[in-house]
Amino acid sequence: MTIATTSATSTGTTLDSINPATGEVVGSVSVSTPDEVRAAVAKARAAQPAWEALSLDERVEKLLSAGPALLDRADELGELLCREMGKPLAEATGEVRACASNWETELREIADALKPQVVEDEHTRSTVYRDPLGVCAAITPWNFPMLMPHWLLLPALIAGNTVVFKPSEETPLIGQAYADALSAVLPEDVLITVHGADEQGKALVASEVDLIVFTGSREVGKKIMAEAAGGLKRVLLELGGKDPLLVLEGADLDAAATFAARNAFRNAGQVCVSTERIYVSDKLHDDFVAKLRAESAKLVVGDGMAEGTAIGPMINAGQRDHVLRQINQAGTDGATVIVADGSEAPAGEGNFVRPTILTGVTHAMEVAMEESFGPVVTVTKVTTDDEAVVLANDTPYGLGAAVFGDPERAKRAARRIKAGMVGINKGLGGASGTPWVGMKQSGIGFHSGPEGHRQFAQVRVVSEAK
Ligand code: NAD
Repeated sequence: MTIATTSATSTGTTLDSINPATGEVVGSVSVSTPDEVRAAVAKARAAQPAWEALSLDERVEKLLSAGPALLDRADELGELLCREMGKPLAEATGEVRACASNWETELREIADALKPQVVEDEHTRSTVYRDPLGVCAAITPWNFPMLMPHWLLLPALIAGNTVVFKPSEETPLIGQAYADALSAVLPEDVLITVHGADEQGKALVASEVDLIVFTGSREVGKKIMAEAAGGLKRVLLELGGKDPLLVLEGADLDAAATFAARNAFRNAGQVCVSTERIYVSDKLHDDFVAKLRAESAKLVVGDGMAEGTAIGPMINAGQRDHVLRQINQAGTDGATVIVADGSEAPAGEGNFVRPTILTGVTHAMEVAMEESFGPVVTVTKVTTDDEAVVLANDTPYGLGAAVFGDPERAKRAARRIKAGMVGINKGLGGASGTPWVGMKQSGIGFHSGPEGHRQFAQVRVVSEAK
């Protein structure tokens, strides 16, 4: 995914955050100079030994009250998130609550995963430690502007790292609000927020950090990995996706169409695990498309603050134009363009795109291969389950997938799809404690769950004879 322009406007010293539904300025932050980014890293390094010297439990205790404080402000922060990023108010408030509600449980799960473990054999007793790496750079996107920082900052901090955090230039205010809630209870300089776009991101990656945790596009992920190679800095990259949905024989078509409409269009398709491609059995194709069309027509496009809005605006004009270009190109190349029959996109300054279904799509079309990150989904007929799996695997991405169909048949297909997370007759969400993980070019390393939390630490083994 490439973003041509940003809705945020920077004067060089000030970054204005723009409401993508109205074009109004929501608020401003000061842009950090590259020197200030490096100074922040130096301060975070100076603060790190004292933070590491605390026990895991002490670090948990320090952070405990930040979650309830966020929860108390869920309505206010939800409104800020909605106005800054565009998603419907209920989803925006839901995102704040998702971060804050299980706060203590999450902190204790992270600490448990990082506790030393004793491993013994006949001759040797070893202790496996998970020590901090040092200073962590955390760089996040705008599409879940509180949840993405939340997923990275808590394990980085509980592991004993200090963190320099750069939220997306599109959503600096909600990023700052989340970081402020943590900083309010942390010792000075354990978490420092810097603001800006790629210049500041580059400065942060090039500075004296030990670990870079990044969620964002595949293109920027590659640049970060290349830059990190010089210093062999650790990287944890959660990147883009082009998730397939397989609709096989035996599928409950109502359930599949409801899922597809929701998962292709929620957050205006600006979700890394959006359904972007659908492969449907030729026997089911026409019925499925009719149902998907009917489900999509129920989705009201509008300002996220307005009652009843299901789909807000796209984050900026560049992203809107990228999606419209893909749709137009697919139409020119022979796809049928079906714009959902529901509400018209509101007039005015907002970057609105109505939900769009493309049928007759082939893999010669860009829209089938490159991330759209917008409210558009492709539909391709297949004659066998094998063909569906081969096409599902035919992109560089491998984040998520879903298969609807007869359960045994769907399970067989699911095992063959090269994606980190696959749902059978449901979305991809795993049981609590399972990781959030991408395969292929959708990521390097992963987070969440005990194995994910451990990736924010350096594993060490100290052994003695018995
Ligand atoms: P992006 O890659 O354009 O930007 C992400 C962050 O990187 C921003 O803070 C940006 O300022 C910064 N940045 C840009 N250039 C940089 C550079 N050269 N060096 C360092 N930092 C730099 O992504 P985006 O548009 O903010 O977010 C959308 C992308 O994020 C999509 O591709 C989406 O799939 C992906 N995403 C992935 C996941 C996941 O869990 N895998 C979750 C959410 C979003």
